[in-house]
Amino acid sequence: MNRYDTIYDVMVIGSGFAGMAATLFAAERGLKVAQTGATGGIDFSTGFLDLMAVHPVAEGRYWDSPWDAIDAVIADHPAHPYARLGKDRIRTAMNDFTEFLRSQKLEYMGHEDRNTPILSPAGTVKRTYRIPRTAWKGTEALRDKAPTLIVDFNGLKGFSGRQIVEMQQTAWPRLKTVRVDFPGSFGELYPEHMAWTLSSPERCRELADSIAEQAKDVEYIGFPAVLGLNDPVRTVTLLEELTGKHVFEIPTLPPSITGPRLRATFDRGLAPRGVCTFSQKLVLEARRDKDGLFTFLIGVPGDARPVKARNAILATGRFFGKGLRAERNGVVEPIFGIPVTQPAERTAWHHQHFFDRHGHAINMSGIEVDDSQHPLDAQGKVVHDNLYAAGAIQGHHDWMRMKCGAGIAIATAYRAVESICGTTP
Ligand SMILES: Cc1cc2nc3c(=O)[nH]c(=O)nc-3n(C[C@H](O)[C@H](O)[C@H](O)COP(=O)(O)OP(=O)(O)OC[C@H]3O[C@@H](n4cnc5c(N)ncnc54)[C@H](O)[C@@H]3O)c2cc1C
Repeated sequence: MNRYDTIYDVMVIGSGFAGMAATLFAAERGLKVAQTGATGGIDFSTGFLDLMAVHPVAEGRYWDSPWDAIDAVIADHPAHPYARLGKDRIRTAMNDFTEFLRSQKLEYMGHEDRNTPILSPAGTVKRTYRIPRTAWKGTEALRDKAPTLIVDFNGLKGFSGRQIVEMQQTAWPRLKTVRVDFPGSFGELYPEHMAWTLSSPERCRELADSIAEQAKDVEYIGFPAVLGLNDPVRTVTLLEELTGKHVFEIPTLPPSITGPRLRATFDRGLAPRGVCTFSQKLVLEARRDKDGLFTFLIGVPGDARPVKARNAILATGRFFGKGLRAERNGVVEPIFGIPVTQPAERTAWHHQHFFDRHGHAINMSGIEVDDSQHPLDAQGKVVHDNLYAAGAIQGHHDWMRMKCGAGIAIATAYRAVESICGTTP
């Protein structure tokens, strides 16, 4: 049977963090899954999995324990997506997600009950919940303020060792940097090309030789996150052997390799689980037929075909992902026309100052869902009993400022799949 003739148990609309998580959880429960979607936040992410770190946003208060932060945010924002999930479920979802990544050679590290401080590409420190193993030693170097060398490369944009050292100079005096030529390359460098190049042991040897003098007196060496694409732990381990130092990665600014690594990991891991991926294709139209099935017209304008599914998970994100659209008179959800909770007036969308410490009201907008993650209409009624929503499209959170992006995406996806499978809470 061709993939357009199949009736799927679930169509996942979206391939960002929420879409990938929903697809994974559904496939692992034996559902026949189709997935559509194009570029999402996952492609631009640092690779860190934020669970919950900042609340209240206006105070910029960072929490060591994401679980205490979740309690605090729910107390102040009872409609926050975490309020409908329960901590045990959130924990299980995060663990299942990272276990899958580990099985695909993208291992994650972190503490069960606390966030870990880590350097951002800008040289500031953020707290996050799960960190790729290839970046983990950087958390130890930062914690101990150990003698550390940051390496950057002539021709690489979006990463500056000098900026990181300058940002940290007071707190971390034994941090220094060196800029070298990338092995075998000159001119402008691209992270993906660099990552492929460093899959070669010979190139890693050249790199280790080029920094040997500067690295003599340090314990740790930090590189921009370009140390391999499909098996970065192997490249990090090799560089540790060659240099005799602890090695770690620091994400570069987008577009970086940390996002494509995640996407490639899902591409590798979902196909063997029977997932049918309609890659780079969008749902142009959705209709619920008399028999209760959905028919989705997917593809690109002028070349679209129908696909049928018993259930759907809407994981289309907000403005960046195109799950919400800002129109002259308000914000709309374009596929199903689900009402979007938003400021009453367009003039109230943003504060006057871009960096206002309260954030912007528009960044709390999104659709309403019930405890099973069914989207609700303007009267608070379930839109369709076989339609669910996961991720940033849900309202009442500002993931960027609260540092809860991946956590909300993964945990709401988990709950949506549970609901499809009829699992009682
Ligand atoms: C630059 C950047 C960096 C980030 N870094 C981090 C980080 O380090 N840690 C962290 O935890 N979070 C990070 N995030 C946030 C994280 O990616 C968000 O939580 C996430 O974007 C929300 O996920 P989502 O899957 O709900 O939506 P999105 O990531 O926006 O994905 C939406 C998906 O829906 C698809 N879609 C939209 N319309 C349609 C349609 N009609 N048909 C089919 N598909 C459709 C899109 O193509 C896309 O695949 C980052 C986000 C960005 C933008």
